[in-house]
Formats: sequence, structure tokens, C-alpha cells
Amino acid sequence: AAETERYVSARPKARALFERAQNSLVGGVPMQWMSEWPGGFPPVMTEAQGARLTDIDGHRYIDFCLGDTGAMFGHSPPAVAAVVARQAAKGLTAMLPSENAVIVAELLAERFGLPFWQMALSATDANRFVLRLAREITGRPKILVFNGCYHGTVDETIVSLEDGIPRSRRGNVGPAFDPTADSRVVEFNDLAALEAALKDRQVACVLTEPALTNLTGVVLPDPGYHPALRDLTRKAGTLLVIDETHTISTGPGGYTRAFGLEPDIFVLGKPIAGGIPAAAFGMTREVGAKVRDRLYGPGTSVAGIGGTLTANALALAAMRATLTEVATDSAYAHMTKLGERLAAGIRAVISRHDLPWYVTQLGARVEYRFQPTPPRTGTEARAGADGAVDRFFHLWCLNRGVMVTPMHNMLLACPATSEADVIRHDEVFGEAVAALLGS
Ligand code: PLP
Repeated sequence: AAETERYVSARPKARALFERAQNSLVGGVPMQWMSEWPGGFPPVMTEAQGARLTDIDGHRYIDFCLGDTGAMFGHSPPAVAAVVARQAAKGLTAMLPSENAVIVAELLAERFGLPFWQMALSATDANRFVLRLAREITGRPKILVFNGCYHGTVDETIVSLEDGIPRSRRGNVGPAFDPTADSRVVEFNDLAALEAALKDRQVACVLTEPALTNLTGVVLPDPGYHPALRDLTRKAGTLLVIDETHTISTGPGGYTRAFGLEPDIFVLGKPIAGGIPAAAFGMTREVGAKVRDRLYGPGTSVAGIGGTLTANALALAAMRATLTEVATDSAYAHMTKLGERLAAGIRAVISRHDLPWYVTQLGARVEYRFQPTPPRTGTEARAGADGAVDRFFHLWCLNRGVMVTPMHNMLLACPATSEADVIRHDEVFGEAVAALLGS
């Protein structure tokens, strides 16, 4: 209560704007996730540069949330800001390809190892396209996802495993559809269940993150899990779609390159254009040829993929700048080094107090959790979530100028994050733990 009072009393402008917004924005926010900040109303952003964010009440934050990975490479990277200004003066959207579309596809192919690409506006959008294409080219109806996954607001994927069958996920709008008709759900790391679910050859694709990152606590693959997943999908004629929207924090080629995965289709979103809405999906030569035949083949073309603003000139210019000047090997080296520092700082506090908590790190991304060991499945991850403790930490940090992602205890280091920023987080995290323990 004291932390809430401190938060509210220091933010009169944000509070007034939130009250005014009740008359024009449903719930007072333009997008539901923004209501998840602790304190009753979100801080209102006025400026965000690099690893710093300023709110309407004049507070400055070290931002470790970074737009829940949308600004993984820092806010308004200078190279992206410059190219966006130049492109805005030259033209924004024309439903024609720009030269940058070809350059970006070549850059993506070189970086991620998949030869063919198509664009989308967001990772949600990309995943919707991918599911449609997977069904089209396999002629199969079902989609398989893992319990606890998140791939955007894509109906077939917002499902949970309950008593062995897929159900519309509780706590979500809907039910919009019958999940048993289109979806299969198994637990991550459960290879026997996966094999059984693929057996009747009805599954068009398995859509998965390399590690489940949309739970409080990352679910990491068991040793040998990914090669077995690849093997089982190949044997069943099911496409393997790796969604790297979050796990691109792992390294310049994402988790896929770092761990030698072999997806048929590969999805990228959020930070890929440095904060401008854009996404892309890559395909193997074989899948690319099938998609080409279906979408662009003579006499056989089918519609149903794409959108008016997809691959607009602004998004492509921003993506090119991000890939060539922002998400560089040296930027990743810095982000990963500071990710290690953040994890070490949190671990030091945990061991000082002898707490049964753990920390996971995927390159620039660090997450802590109030349990002794990482969960192996979505069910285990859900069982250990403690929203009240999470909110206490997030609010404590906000009140001291440190932003941590509200829906996870997730921190990201970006190219502009400094060692001093990490030291400040060490202090604030240490104080929060001491306050929680009453010591
Ligand atoms: N895929 C993954 C793995 C995600 O984590 C998310 C969002 O958190 C999405 C897709 C959807 O991204 P967006 O909300 O930008 O469409």
C-alpha cells in the first residue's frame, strides 16, 4: 500500500490523463497490456531514447522492459530514427515494393540461413499468415502448439491443455472457436505426447518458440529436445515453425543459429525494425517453392495472405537500418555481456539471502522467478506464478526509476544499457528483496 501511495502521489499528470481517457479509450488505455502496469494506471511516456524513458510527470527511468522486447535494440536507435525521417520525406506506403524489400530479404537470408522471405506488420500477423500457408501447402487441418505458449492473438494458438484436450485458454476473450477442431496442445518437453499427437498426420505445423518465454519463468528445452522435435516433425510430414519473436535476444541469428535448429519456417517480429511495426517470416527452399507455386504459380494462385500496409517503404527502410547498423554482432556482444551482469547481480542477492529462486538468461534477456528450479512445462510454470509478489517488485522498481516488464519479471539489456544501469538495478533489486523479507 505504501508503494502504491508513493507511485500515485508522484504521478498527478498521468493519473489525470488516465481519468480523462476513461471517456474516450475503453478502460483508459489504447491497448489492454498497458493496463497491466502496477499502481492502478500506467506511467505516460513522453520520450524514450536508448535505455532511458521519461514520463509525463518528469520521472526518468532506466528501461529494462524496452517495450516488452519491441525496443530490444534500444529506444529510437539513431540509425533507425535518421532513416525513418529520410523515408518519411520520400514516401511511406504505395503497395509497391521498394529496393529495400529485396535488400532486407537478402540480409535476413544471410543472417538466419533461410533463403526465402515474406513480410508482415507484426508477429501476430506473421503467425496468422504462416498458419494459413502451412495448411495450404500440407492440405492438413490441425495446428500443434505447446501448453503455455504465446504467439499473438491468433485463435488457434490461444489454447490450453486441460485433462488431455485443448480448451480455449481461460482468462482470454472468447471462446471464439472450437479448439478441438483446429488445435492440438501438448506440454513442452513431452516428446512422447508430441509423437502421439503427430501420428495421424493431420497436423500441418508445429508452432513453437525455441524456449517458452511468455510465462513468468522461461521454460527451457531439455537436452536433446530440439533434435527430437525436428526428427518427429520431419517423420510426420509436419512443418516446424520456430517463432523467434522473443528469443532473438539470444544472439545475432537468434536461438536458431546459436543452437543449430533447422526450422521449415521462421518468424520474426517486434524489434526487427527498431520499433517501427514490421515482421517477417523465412522459409526453406522447399517450403518457399511450395508457397511460390500456390501464391504466385500460373493458373493456381490463391489469395489470403498479406495486407494493405504490409512491407510498406517505412517499415522496410527501418528494418534495413536495424539489420545493418543496430542489431550488429558488436551490439549483441555488449547486450549479452550486460545480460550476464544483470543475471549475476540478481543471483548475488538471491544467494546473499539464501532464497530458493532462480534466474534464466537468453543472451540480452534475463528473468527471475520465485521458485528453486525452472519449470519444464507450461503447467509447472503456471503453478508457480505469484502475481502479488511480481507486482510488488515491479512497483518498487518503478518508484525508484527502474522499469521491469510487468507481465514477466523480465529485464533486457540493449546496446545503450550501461554497467552503471546494471549496478543501479542490483541496488534496487537488493532493496526490494530486503523489503519483502522485512530485513
Ligand atoms: N510471438 C511471440 C513469441 C510473442 O512473444 C509475441 C508477443 O509477445 C507475439 C508472437 C506477438 O507479437 P505482437 O504482439 O507484436 O504481434
